[in-house]
Amino acid sequence: MMKKLLLSSLVLTLVTLCTVMLTCRTPETHADEQTQKPTALDSDKNRTITVLDGDSSVKMTVYDYLVGVVAAEMPVSFEDEALKAQAVAARSYLERALDNPKHENADICTDFDCCQAYIGLSELRKKWGDSYDAYIIKIKNAVEATDGQYLSYEGKAALTAFHSSSDGTTESSGEVWSDVPYLVSVSTPETADTVPNYISTLTLADIDFRDTVLYLKPEADMTGDADEWIGKITRSDSGRVRSIIIGGVKLSGTELRELFTLRSTAFEISHADGKFTFTVTGYGHGVGMSQYGANEMAKNGSDYREILSHYYPGTELT
Ligand SMILES: [Zn+2]
Repeated sequence: MMKKLLLSSLVLTLVTLCTVMLTCRTPETHADEQTQKPTALDSDKNRTITVLDGDSSVKMTVYDYLVGVVAAEMPVSFEDEALKAQAVAARSYLERALDNPKHENADICTDFDCCQAYIGLSELRKKWGDSYDAYIIKIKNAVEATDGQYLSYEGKAALTAFHSSSDGTTESSGEVWSDVPYLVSVSTPETADTVPNYISTLTLADIDFRDTVLYLKPEADMTGDADEWIGKITRSDSGRVRSIIIGGVKLSGTELRELFTLRSTAFEISHADGKFTFTVTGYGHGVGMSQYGANEMAKNGSDYREILSHYYPGTELT
């Protein structure tokens, strides 16, 4: 009798538990069904976004938008796999913008300082002239071949920062903005042989150097011998300038880059004959994918998936 009672109470408990589990699971299952849209709806050509271009908001498909972004952000002469990597990076940036709206009446804008650069087809026709037909096919193929694909990290669209070229190693995000787990320093294969203007120099007379520094840091002591103005320089793991003491005042590498419009923070500074000279390597903030590096990887046989997982380690192609 006792056994029977125990058994029936066990059955009752199990039934109750199952009912609770089923009830609890119902909304989850429903949510899954809602997010698993048919593929055709996720296709770039079937999604419409609003793009702020100057003062006007323009409705266009994700496909048309991405063709304009890839054409604006990467040289069309680059390898197909590099262009595909750029298309995925651009789409990831868009997905992130859709998740975190920045503009009131638009999903994204065409100002590269704010969102991503974009060039419309009529502008591209003017820019490319007779080569338009051949070039636009290359860009369209890169967008179509990666249709709907973007990079994610822990279920959210990844921040796919990119830059033109680096000095052997990319920069960790924490050195420029704040730490992002997949924007870490990695090796990158481009060299002076493969990147135009890879090494650039800027030379200024002592007085111009002094006035520019005083504009940002009026408290700096720029009197006395100019040979003594530059103090300790600290560098990040990638070799870029993290900080520099000038006239007894500390400036970050990015502050100095902005102040003198240097192409990157990978620089050396020297002083001779009444002049300061910056010798700068690469172009851009150095974080995330190096575009010239991506092109070199593609030339060496890497596909866009390998390029993306190299520059954004830990992200998932979604
Ligand atoms: Zn914007």
